[in-house]
Amino acid sequence: MVIAPHTIEPMISAQDIAARVAQLATEITTYFHDTRGLVVVGLLRGSFIFVADLVRALDLPIEIDFLEASSYGDMTNSNRNVRILKDLRGDIAGRDVLIVEDIVDTGFTLNHVLALLRTRSPNRLEVCALLDKPARREVDITAKWTGFTIPDAFVVGYGIDFAQANRNLPYIGQVRFVP
Ligand code: 5GP
Repeated sequence: MVIAPHTIEPMISAQDIAARVAQLATEITTYFHDTRGLVVVGLLRGSFIFVADLVRALDLPIEIDFLEASSYGDMTNSNRNVRILKDLRGDIAGRDVLIVEDIVDTGFTLNHVLALLRTRSPNRLEVCALLDKPARREVDITAKWTGFTIPDAFVVGYGIDFAQANRNLPYIGQVRFVP
C-alpha cells in the first residue's frame, strides 16, 4: 500500500493521557465497586494500549477478553455493515462488562457491538472510549466514560494506526497530509 506523504502533529501528550486514564480508572472503580468480577472487553486492535493502561489502574477483580469488529462499505452509507472478525472467548451472561474502545466516530461499530453483547444477557454493560468525535456521529450513542473529546481529525498513536503504522507512538497525533 502506498501511503501519501504526511506529518504527525502532536495532539494529546503521553502525560495528559496518563493523567486522564488514572481519572477514568478511579471513576470506573467507584462505579463497579460491588462487582464480583468485571469482564473488560477490548475492541481490537486500536484499544490494546488503552486497555493495558486502564486495567492496571482499576482497583477491581477483572478478566480480559477481546472482540474484533470491522466495518465495511461506503462510509457515507448509514446502513454500513459491521462484521465480527473475532468474537469473545468467554460467556458474559450475568456478568458486569466494560467495553473499551479507542475512538467513537460515526458510532456504527459501538452500536453493533452493544446490540450483539446485549443479546447475551450481561448484568451491567458499559463503555469507556479513549476518544470521541461527536462531529461525525451518525448513530445516537455515547460512551459512559470518554477520555477526550476531539474535533474531526484523523488521529494515530497510543494503539491507533494509520495503515497499521504508528500504533506505538506514546502520544495521540493528528495526521496531516502534505500537499
Ligand atoms: P465508527 O464505527 O464509530 O465510525 O468507527 C470507529 C472506529 O473507526 C474506531 O474504532 C477506529 O478503528 C476507526 N477510526 C475512527 N476515527 C479514526 C481516526 O481518526 N484514526 C484511526 N486510525 N481510526 C479511526
